[in-house]
Amino acid sequence: MNTAVLETDEHKALRAAVASLGARYGRSYFERVVSEGRHTDELWAEAGKAGYLGVNLPEAYGGGGGGITELAIVLEELGAAGCPLLMLVVSPAICGTVIARFGTEAQKQRWLPGLADGRITMAFGITEPDAGSNSHRITTTARRDGTDWLLTGRKVFISGVDIADATLIVGRTEDARTGKLKPCLFIVPRDTPGFSRSPIPMELHAPEKQFELVLDDVRLPAEALVGDEDAGLLQLFAGLNPERIMTAAFALGLGRYALARAVDYARTRQVWKEPIGAHQAIAHPLAQAHIELELARLMMSKAAHLYDRGDDVGAGEAANMAKYAAAEAAVRTVDQAVHTLGGNGLTTEYGLGRLVTAARVARIAPVSREMILNYVSHQTLGLPKSY
Ligand SMILES: Cc1cc2nc3c(=O)[nH]c(=O)nc-3n(C[C@H](O)[C@H](O)[C@H](O)COP(=O)(O)OP(=O)(O)OC[C@H]3O[C@@H](n4cnc5c(N)ncnc54)[C@H](O)[C@@H]3O)c2cc1C
Repeated sequence: MNTAVLETDEHKALRAAVASLGARYGRSYFERVVSEGRHTDELWAEAGKAGYLGVNLPEAYGGGGGGITELAIVLEELGAAGCPLLMLVVSPAICGTVIARFGTEAQKQRWLPGLADGRITMAFGITEPDAGSNSHRITTTARRDGTDWLLTGRKVFISGVDIADATLIVGRTEDARTGKLKPCLFIVPRDTPGFSRSPIPMELHAPEKQFELVLDDVRLPAEALVGDEDAGLLQLFAGLNPERIMTAAFALGLGRYALARAVDYARTRQVWKEPIGAHQAIAHPLAQAHIELELARLMMSKAAHLYDRGDDVGAGEAANMAKYAAAEAAVRTVDQAVHTLGGNGLTTEYGLGRLVTAARVARIAPVSREMILNYVSHQTLGLPKSY
């Protein structure tokens, strides 16, 4: 048995501590925040103070010195308590990781302590309207003007730009405008002239909003570029693998929350002799959901373990598979949870219907189910490409 994927006592203690924080806030807090059009500021601040938001960031910059393994535990447990914090996927996991691994000393000093304790939040923008899943087609372009950069382009579906102090934007340099993507990453502070945002109306019940961004000759100093402009995909994937692992954690938390609601209901709701949970047509799909969530968590642990050990290539495949498995498990679990409650599955009081769209996010973003199947077909199985 490979014990490397099993949890240490420290991990179990972290899981228990975060679960108890989540339980103190609970779903009612999350629902209230959303209905008041606010953000989860109180929970975010408390989690930051306790060291949970920056658990993956280096100790030298105020973080916990752990890895994505620990950060995934934080997100999963908050989600299982009904409080999934989407910005954890973006701010400490993608942006924090990329800056910690490739930033200059000055960038680390400027951003990491705030990302670690939650005073600073950073969004991440790669998706473009005309590129979508094909990130090689992104056209956001950076050109030099003296020592400055001028950034021009458009992005869509970028989460949390309104609450983020800055957005890490993926562009390409002018010389690399065509052909295979050679991405470069720029930190764009929220109020930089030429950087505008408009919210996209979404069918989601969440505090984080998605935005369309326009970058119109956004002037940035040389130090806005994170890492090497010639480093290419390596730097980008240093952030995208954690994003996939964290999306798996988001999906697992959501799935566990929905499953717990359904099990509670199935234990007590009685319309014949026994509670509905005694009928195998109700019990078996719930048992199946539990198994699928547990299996997905194993894959997520493997991916996080490989990533934290520095195996970017191995982590790439495992992170894709973990994201796939967790998203599919969450979608099926939520569907079954809604069904278990009958009519109550769609009432506002029980609040499960709105999880249907939330779970679908994990199937679409940050990389869709089909693009993961493409990746495994080509990279793992060596099958030819159709595109
Ligand atoms: C709630 C939410 C939050 C998001 N937050 C962010 C964020 O913070 N930052 C960010 O950069 N992006 C974000 N995104 C964007 C997300 O990453 C994209 O929506 C996703 O990558 C898919 O791109 P697309 O929407 O353009 O779909 P498309 O690329 O247009 O795909 C549409 C459909 O076609 C399928 N498809 C496309 N190509 C192929 C192919 N070759 N083979 C088979 N099927 C294919 C896809 O699987 C999909 O089902 C967010 C999206 C959502 C919904």
